[in-house]
Amino acid sequence: MTFEYAPAPESRAIVSIKPKYGHFINGSFVAGKKHFPTINPATEEILSHISLGGLSDVDKAVAAAQKAYTKTWSKLSGKERGKYLYRIARILQERAREFAVLETLDNGKPIRETRDIDIPLVAAHFFYHAGWADKLDYAGLGHSPQPYGVAGQIIPWNFPLLMLAWKVAPALATGNTVVLKPAETTSLTALLFAEVCQQAELPDGVVNIVTGDGSTGAAIVNHPGIHKIAFTGSTDVGKKIARAIASTDKKATLELGGKGANVVFDDAPVDEAVEGIVNGIFFNQGHVCCAGSRLILQESIADEVIEKLKVRMSKIRVGDPLDKNTDLGAINSKEQLVKIKELSAIGDAEGAERWSPQCNLSDKGFWFAPTIFTGVTQAHRIAQEEIFGPVLSILTFRTPQEAMDKANNTPFGLSAGIWSEKGSRIFWASQHLKAGVIWANTFNKFDPASPFGGYKESGWGREGGKHGLAAYLKTGKETGVK
Ligand code: ADP
Repeated sequence: MTFEYAPAPESRAIVSIKPKYGHFINGSFVAGKKHFPTINPATEEILSHISLGGLSDVDKAVAAAQKAYTKTWSKLSGKERGKYLYRIARILQERAREFAVLETLDNGKPIRETRDIDIPLVAAHFFYHAGWADKLDYAGLGHSPQPYGVAGQIIPWNFPLLMLAWKVAPALATGNTVVLKPAETTSLTALLFAEVCQQAELPDGVVNIVTGDGSTGAAIVNHPGIHKIAFTGSTDVGKKIARAIASTDKKATLELGGKGANVVFDDAPVDEAVEGIVNGIFFNQGHVCCAGSRLILQESIADEVIEKLKVRMSKIRVGDPLDKNTDLGAINSKEQLVKIKELSAIGDAEGAERWSPQCNLSDKGFWFAPTIFTGVTQAHRIAQEEIFGPVLSILTFRTPQEAMDKANNTPFGLSAGIWSEKGSRIFWASQHLKAGVIWANTFNKFDPASPFGGYKESGWGREGGKHGLAAYLKTGKETGVK
């Protein structure tokens, strides 16, 4: 039986968007010189105009962060820093609906996800790190670990506020100050977060937000006043950053691309696995670096799983991201849609078989139906390259070892999933999979206490948990403390 859903749109009245934004430097909004539009990807409506930060804006932001570090933030005890983080976390919870609606408008992701996943996780990151601020001496990182100073943080558009939280919360908890650049298509929630910093009376200059494009990001990376870089984004830009800092003493964490393998063994609970496959690739329109974008199915159950997957995919509701019943929202930008279409066309040309359920996609905005490709081989580009959209490549295997070889046969190593009812098989597979995060009988589960990061071209270092704290602290001899 199929249910018809009446429209259930969330009201957007709770957000007030200014026609134009400046940068947030030294506790105040300062006007930018040049601007570019930011649009709602579901409707192409222009929401606002964002400042394109240049060298002088970055310079002012770094100077403010340096001053705040020396004069205020490094002088506060961990306990006092923690109070600010708790205050920010509570304000984020109080304003959760406003943030959820704004994120959905600016990014195109469904309100169900911003409301139930992104924003609660954002608050959880601030709460978690608030708890660490006065306990750093006991984190197992050695005696009296010390902050680096000013952290330059560059984030992508797929989880705009959540990536901000992943970056800002550990930096502040460990005593660093921050210059952050949001992605060009999704700056609005970062700018609303700036208002939260004001509301929390965070000392001026501790958090600075400069909006802009890749050139603004490069200006942050190359600025001599930046001591640590935290970047999440594409492997191409990650490589550029690694080259740019190669001859400096800047520390960096790079969280880059992925081509996660979701491996389903023949003893897996099939219905649960189908849910996990759908969550693995269609969560957040597949705009997820750790997405389970390669399904590696044991041959004996492949037909059954694919049939059930098609039935399940036919129930995915694609449409208005503000509608509370929507499962799959808009693709974040025209450029990303073009990339998804190009790689999918390459899948067709290479001989893989494409299938999507019937979807009524709007003419306005950027949309792509949930899609699977069967008959994919390891040599296909859709088995190797990150599509970053709602597109799943399906491969099969006969022996467990073959599954591991196929799963590891990419330049990436960020995430993997294992579906099996046998604990021994899960342990065996998790030892063989070269991936920073491995889920068993689930997928895309996140927690601030759990370190996240990759091997190979998926990046350097870990974010979250104790490992994530270490990336913001000098330890041992580096501290100069005897
Ligand atoms: P995506 O594929 O997610 O768009 P990008 O790596 O292009 O990923 O972008 C991630 C972030 O990196 C964005 O904030 C973008 O503006 C920034 N960025 C792009 N080019 C550079 C660069 N050369 N140096 C620093 N940051 C950059």
